[in-house]
Amino acid sequence: MMECWQCGKPAQGICRFCGRAVCKEHCSTMPFILTIYVGENNTPKAVVVADALWCGVCKPQPEPIEMPEIY
Ligand SMILES: [Zn+2]
Ligand SMILES: [Zn+2]
Repeated sequence: MMECWQCGKPAQGICRFCGRAVCKEHCSTMPFILTIYVGENNTPKAVVVADALWCGVCKPQPEPIEMPEIY
């Protein structure tokens, strides 16, 4: 049984962003960007989940960040 990251009660869900477990009381929601692509007229578009579960602790970046060290 997983416990809430914040209070230690039984967790109801997992943060979409960092994977922490949280209870109903402490979870929040936040838009989650699934993917970004370039649409017509070279306009960047994002596929977003509007209310992805968020633990309220981590700080998701609004945009993908560059990680050159991976390559
Ligand atoms: Zn909690
Ligand atoms: Zn989180």
